Amino acid sequence: MRFAARASSAGALGLLPLSSLAGIPRPMPVRQLEVMGGLYEAEAEVEVVQDEDALRRWFERARRTGERVTLAGARRSFGEQYLPPKGGIVLDLAGFAAGARELETEADGSIWISAGGGTTFKDLRAAFPGHRVYCPPTTDTISLAGALSACTHNSGGYFADSVRAFSLSCPNGQSYECSRRAEGLAHDLFEHVPGSFGAFGVITRLELRLAPLAPGQEVLVHAIYAGRSESGAYLSYLEQAADNPRFREGAGAVVYGNRGHSIVLGDELLPAGVHQKGPPALLTDDRVGQQAITQSLVNRVPRLAEWLVSRTYQQGAVRVAPSYGFQFFQRGFDEAHRRLSRPGVTSALLRLCGVRKRMPVCHTAWFFPRSELREFTEGYFDTLSRYPGIERVVEQQDYVLLEPSQWPCHSMGRTEFPLGVLTASFSVARGGDMEHRVRCFFRDVSRDCRSFSPGARISLCKQVHADDEVLRSMHKGFVSAVQTLRAEVDPTGILTSRMLTSLGVARA
Ligand SMILES: Cc1cc2nc3c(=O)[nH]c(=O)nc-3n(C[C@H](O)[C@H](O)[C@H](O)COP(=O)(O)OP(=O)(O)OC[C@H]3O[C@@H](n4cnc5c(N)ncnc54)[C@H](O)[C@@H]3O)c2cc1C
Repeated sequence: MRFAARASSAGALGLLPLSSLAGIPRPMPVRQLEVMGGLYEAEAEVEVVQDEDALRRWFERARRTGERVTLAGARRSFGEQYLPPKGGIVLDLAGFAAGARELETEADGSIWISAGGGTTFKDLRAAFPGHRVYCPPTTDTISLAGALSACTHNSGGYFADSVRAFSLSCPNGQSYECSRRAEGLAHDLFEHVPGSFGAFGVITRLELRLAPLAPGQEVLVHAIYAGRSESGAYLSYLEQAADNPRFREGAGAVVYGNRGHSIVLGDELLPAGVHQKGPPALLTDDRVGQQAITQSLVNRVPRLAEWLVSRTYQQGAVRVAPSYGFQFFQRGFDEAHRRLSRPGVTSALLRLCGVRKRMPVCHTAWFFPRSELREFTEGYFDTLSRYPGIERVVEQQDYVLLEPSQWPCHSMGRTEFPLGVLTASFSVARGGDMEHRVRCFFRDVSRDCRSFSPGARISLCKQVHADDEVLRSMHKGFVSAVQTLRAEVDPTGILTSRMLTSLGVARA
């Protein structure tokens, strides 16, 4: 599972005259791809592609040679979303046409912008300091195209909801201008690309809305509940917080261990010009280096997370965060990964403290209808009871509640009903017994949730811990929608990835 050696495609290519590789330099570098969260890696030929001409040449070449390619953005996935099956090639799109410009302003001060798919959230902050993105994922090095492809969410909503149009370059040699107003295939692609994980083509440019943000605008993080979780009362507090317009920035609950301490947080955006004095919220200032150290120590000693968070968020506590740091509060995790993957003093010291390379975590999430919140919770913790001892390495078990999804390829598909999400991260030593047991636990939840929460599905956005048969049956709507559209835009099946092959929509 963890490692697939790359058998070079040079065998097939060696038979071709060099001129048939029009404009594409050879040989391509073979790189070791090491996925965040430490569980997956691969060796692959990686080609950096930064403009549409190079991309078109790649697709032409793949149509001729039968090679398969996998798309990679900023490589912030935790699972096998951008890893190629054995023998595949990775197109690195991280720098694809990065850059952004303003298109128009709305009456409330929001702006519409156009940005290349490789643009990151951090790039947007630099380009538009007076505005912010709606509902981005929680670290700012992720690319816009990668976020749209995964149909990411935060505790307030879905990133894709703020995208009104994008351009998609497909393996059939065609480009499509996709928008809600488009007709036919371009409209179908507009609806199906969010959550499709690079199955249809390359998102080269997007148009999205940014909200106005006053200098120094702040968010208050309220600890609405802190205490025991066995009675399930925290779930009622979570529902109240999620439905309270005061906490439009988001609401979430965290539970430690097996039905241990729980905390419910509600997040309130203060109006421009209003400031409240108070202690700072965790992980939200710009001292990302310090946060990286905390994050890596927490990975080594997961109980530290419970200790830190429960001391900080006692019931009734209110903490203050800068809006940007609040939105991207996992920058420290990202930075820790970066520091630990290169030699340096911090990395050496952290390794001396026992921090493991790439801070390995078993990290997954399940979506379910909000109406099944309690049933899913009971089933999840009952299953955890079958694996005594693993609750000691819980780093994170958190819930958020979301509005219905309007995206057919979102892990839950398009729904009329609101959703719940439980995300779990367990710190494990790679290859050790704990990793094995946590993987088994996750697979059991994915299999058995059909009985305790029939509407639940494992998220495709994190690591996927489910047997292929369970995965395919849970996501059969996704599989059939993706196959239908691929017949038009990628008829020879050029685009692939390990995750798309597990789902049965692409060939290895
Ligand atoms: C610290 C951290 C915090 C995170 N927080 C959240 C969160 O709060 N919510 C959430 O939902 N997710 C979260 N994520 C997950 C992250 O948002 C997704 O994994 C996202 O897809 C990563 O995008 P990327 O640019 O790194 O792309 P990659 O990881 O490189 O690729 C992701 C997918 O997008 C496809 N892809 C990439 N570029 C393109 C393109 N130009 N055109 C078409 N397809 C493309 C790839 O084929 C792949 O399937 C987090 C990740 C990290 C590391």
